[in-house]
Amino acid sequence: MTKRFDVGGVAVSGDHFIGGERISSPGTFETRSPLDWSNLLLGEVARGDAATADHAVRAAADAFPAWAALSPQERGRHLHRLADLIEAHKDAIATVECLDMGLLEDSLRLRLVPRGALNFRNYADLAIEHEERVWSSKGTANRVIRMPAGPAVIITPWNAPFMLSTWKCAPALAAGNTVILKPAEWSPLSASVLADLIAEAGIPPGVFNIVQGLGREVGDALVRHPGVRRISFTGSVPTARVIGRAAADNIVPFTAELGGKSCLLVFADADIEAAAKKAAGQYDDSGQVCMAGSRLIVEESVREEFLAHFHRFTDAHVMGDSRDPDTTMAPMIHPDHVARVEGFIARARAAGDRIVRGGNRPHADGLWIEPTLIEPASNDSEVVQSEIFGPVLTFQTFADEAEGIALANSTAYGLSGIVYTGSAARAERVGRAVRAGTVWVNTFLVRDLTAPFGGIGISGLGREGGHFALEFHSDLKTLQILEGSTA
Ligand code: NAD
Repeated sequence: MTKRFDVGGVAVSGDHFIGGERISSPGTFETRSPLDWSNLLLGEVARGDAATADHAVRAAADAFPAWAALSPQERGRHLHRLADLIEAHKDAIATVECLDMGLLEDSLRLRLVPRGALNFRNYADLAIEHEERVWSSKGTANRVIRMPAGPAVIITPWNAPFMLSTWKCAPALAAGNTVILKPAEWSPLSASVLADLIAEAGIPPGVFNIVQGLGREVGDALVRHPGVRRISFTGSVPTARVIGRAAADNIVPFTAELGGKSCLLVFADADIEAAAKKAAGQYDDSGQVCMAGSRLIVEESVREEFLAHFHRFTDAHVMGDSRDPDTTMAPMIHPDHVARVEGFIARARAAGDRIVRGGNRPHADGLWIEPTLIEPASNDSEVVQSEIFGPVLTFQTFADEAEGIALANSTAYGLSGIVYTGSAARAERVGRAVRAGTVWVNTFLVRDLTAPFGGIGISGLGREGGHFALEFHSDLKTLQILEGSTA
């Protein structure tokens, strides 16, 4: 075990959490704060390797039979205890994640961390209701039995680390699987706080393990490990392709929640001011949101009205320290990511796309890019077709509903979509026509945890949420007993 370090008053461990114990690695990597990249080194985090992955999978496999044998009610009691502790420590988690990832502290405290607790509560309760089907057929009594599958590897991205980790781990644990969580290397620390709470909640050692390190090292070793029975991944399309191949080699079920290039489609009959406000809100978190409506597609007749409101709301954004309640745009996660986003803007300029606003860094040494709006020269422009994952939106117009839908559906992605219209018939028609796993009409990011969530096209494979995730984490068995043959 290595020494803990102080992150905003919270003593955080950089070690792994395996079999209920803190374990170090010979190698480490640095985690720095996006709030003050040059000056704020938060700490050194264990850099796991193949031996770490093997240790974690063995610990999860050892703990599996006893955890799987518990009733859903008994597992649920553990998960509710963990949720209680998350609620009790929400300020500490928010502080650590704000410093480590840069997300707005208020948004973490009020929205994302409480949602983490809710993820465990929701699945603790859902697993109890997860009914087994019973029926009679051809002289046999039939039952569908759901069996926990075994150790599950959960791999998460850097952009909403705590919320996403809990969202993905909760169904695995509730279904009776044991878990090895591998958080992203750019924001590893809130998972370490979670490990302390797992221990405090009394969850049996080995049931919930956390391994730190780089994706291409310990992540790769985890997804290739033959002892793993489920892989649940959230991240980018290129990484999903690599992990998918590893899953195929071991014939392991795999889900992938990937990137998006979602539309925000505005019809002339909508509340234009409300639509423009929501559009300017896509810059929150500096656009580092998978579901962001990053393509503004507006009916030509309301172009000027929409843009006037949009610029007014965008002008009100404050790029600042994420701990300051007045800040609305958090810094971006890492200088490499800033450079990547700047690359998109530079190539758009060079290709003849029109930069309507923004495109620059307001502070030379800070990780912000101004809210940027680009009117592309063509729908084939890179900024329209590729996920940027930064504060960059595109602006296009359409003449009629058919053209609007065609533009909305013109990328390879299909994670989500936002539609603004005042017509009930159009809401239904266009809501069905937009090709995406989730479509919101006249709202955004309202989530019911029992609803399926996932992507179409290259935005993903499989569904999370509600019973869908419990199903993924279970092996189904059909048990048939000849009626009258037993007493
Ligand atoms: P990424 O694919 O680079 O990394 C995601 C995770 O995979 C990290 O933990 C990383 O360490 C790990 N990883 C990388 N290579 C690996 C390998 N070879 N084997 C095993 N693990 C490996 O993605 P990112 O940059 O961290 O996250 C941003 C992406 O995530 C964006 O595309 C965003 O849209 C997407 N995302 C999707 C959702 C969703 O629910 N659909 C939610 C949030 C983010």
